[in-house]
Parts: sequence; structure tokens; C-alpha cells
Amino acid sequence: MKEITVISGKGGTGKTTLTVAFASLCNAALADCDVDASDLPLLLDPTVERKESFIGSKLAVKHEELCTFCGECQKVCRFNSIDGSMAVIKEKCEGCGACTLVCPVNALTLEERMTGEVFVSTTRFGPLVHAELFTGEEASGKLVTRVREVAFSVAEEAGKDLILVDGSPGIGCPVIASLVGTSLAVLVSEPTRSGMYDLERIYGVLKHFSIACCVLINKCDLCTELAQEIETWCHQKRIPIVGRLPYDTRIPQAMDKGLTLTELDSEFAEILKTIWTRIRNLDQK
Ligand code: SF4
Ligand code: SF4
Repeated sequence: MKEITVISGKGGTGKTTLTVAFASLCNAALADCDVDASDLPLLLDPTVERKESFIGSKLAVKHEELCTFCGECQKVCRFNSIDGSMAVIKEKCEGCGACTLVCPVNALTLEERMTGEVFVSTTRFGPLVHAELFTGEEASGKLVTRVREVAFSVAEEAGKDLILVDGSPGIGCPVIASLVGTSLAVLVSEPTRSGMYDLERIYGVLKHFSIACCVLINKCDLCTELAQEIETWCHQKRIPIVGRLPYDTRIPQAMDKGLTLTELDSEFAEILKTIWTRIRNLDQK
């Protein structure tokens, strides 16, 4: 099973729009690993076929009838999650379990806490696995890992040999969870100073985990000097550039109508087909 992950290091580069365009050109299972702000469902209008609960953390639960109000739990809690009446403040509890260890009468236990949901859906470009992390919840890296696990099973069930992943933004735990073990990372960059900076940062992560990558320069005509700077940097690092796409105001208009870039016009479709062929060739190496 091959897995191609589209990432950008920052938001607003067109990562998700391009992922959808590639999805229209291949026969893959899709996975949305941006679990904090899942955008693929917005563009693909999926039909949810099934869902599962995601247990992302634990919560201390007090059994009132046993409590002697000794205050030991409050003293040990580093997160100020136990109030003056020795009640657990759910929103603050990190589930570390320290209070359960010091309670002399075993009045506290750790229980599983549902922090999100994983969905398996159908779309016009194939099955999609996506997720929702509940507001204020953490552990998005664990949820990304679960999305990838489910996507793997869904791809096998559907007889697919490729998973196309819309990766998480940034360089933290969720993006590492999106990338580790992937066959190829496609870095979508744009010629802005912050785009260049984020490209260098995400490349550092990929290099650390020895993940093969290539670069796609989106909105390449925004600044020709910076586009050239990105190209020079890629050559120095021996990173293949799979393509350059111009900025085009018709793109948001197409998205408003629910169209992908490949459906926008034949010129875009041809450029994207060429880029996708280059990506697949790199992926086969
Ligand atoms: S440590 Fe146990 S007995 Fe003491 S206040 Fe906390 S819950 Fe109650
Ligand atoms: S589990 Fe940890 S964070 Fe939660 S109340 Fe107990 S000590 Fe505090």
C-alpha cells in the first residue's frame, strides 16, 4: 500500500484544494489528517457511511460515597483540577492519574474520555476517512494516527493500492503523525517569505524522519524572486520540483461551485495531470 501525503507547513497555500484535484486524477482512498479543521469534507460533500468514537484521553472520576475530604488529591494535582470541595473540574483534568495514586480510600478512578469521532464516508472520488476533534480537546496526533489506521483498512476493503492524505498543518505532533511511514510527502509551497520559512521548517521534520519528498510551488507568479529562491533552495537540497501553478482568481470561484481544479478548465487539468504523473513516478522509485 502506497501513501502520498500532501503537506504545506502553513495554512493558505492551497494544500487541500490540490489534494482534491489529485484525488480526481487517481483511484485512491482519501484521508483527511487535518483533524483540528477538517476541510476535505467541505470540498467533497461526503456521505457518512459509518463512524466510531475516539477515546483520546482519560478523566479522573470521584466516587463521592468513599471520599473523606482529606485534600490529598488537591495537593498533588499540578493542573488545579480539583476545587475547594474536592470535586474534579472536568474541563481542567488532564487525566494524569496522580490523584488516584494518593487517594487513601481509592475514591478516585481514571475513566476513558471520548474526545472526537472518526468518519468513513463516500465521495465522488472514492472513500474518505476524516475526523472531528471535539472543541477544546487535545491529542490530535493520536486522532491522526487513528484516521490513518482506518484509512488503511478502508483502502484494503475497497481494493485500492494508494492512500492520498491531506496532511496536518504546522510541524508539531499532528503533522508528524500524518507523515511517519508515508511513501512520499508533497510539499506545497508559495513564494512568500513565510512560505519559504515554513518550507525549510517542514523539510527539517522530513529529513529527521528520512521521508522522501518533492515540492510543488503554488501561486508561483505571486513573486518571481521568491519563487526563484525556492527553486534554488530545492536544487541545493536535491528536492525534486514537480510543478509550478500560477495564481488564478477563478480557483476560489470554482471551489464555490464545488468544482475541482481539474474541472476548472483544460489548461489547469493538463498541468495537474503532468504534476500528478511526476509525483507517481517519484513514488514508484
Ligand atoms: S484524596 Fe480521596 S479521600 Fe482525599 S479528598 Fe481526594 S478523593 Fe477524597
Ligand atoms: S487525573 Fe491528574 S489532572 Fe486530573 S484531577 Fe487527577 S491529578 Fe488532576
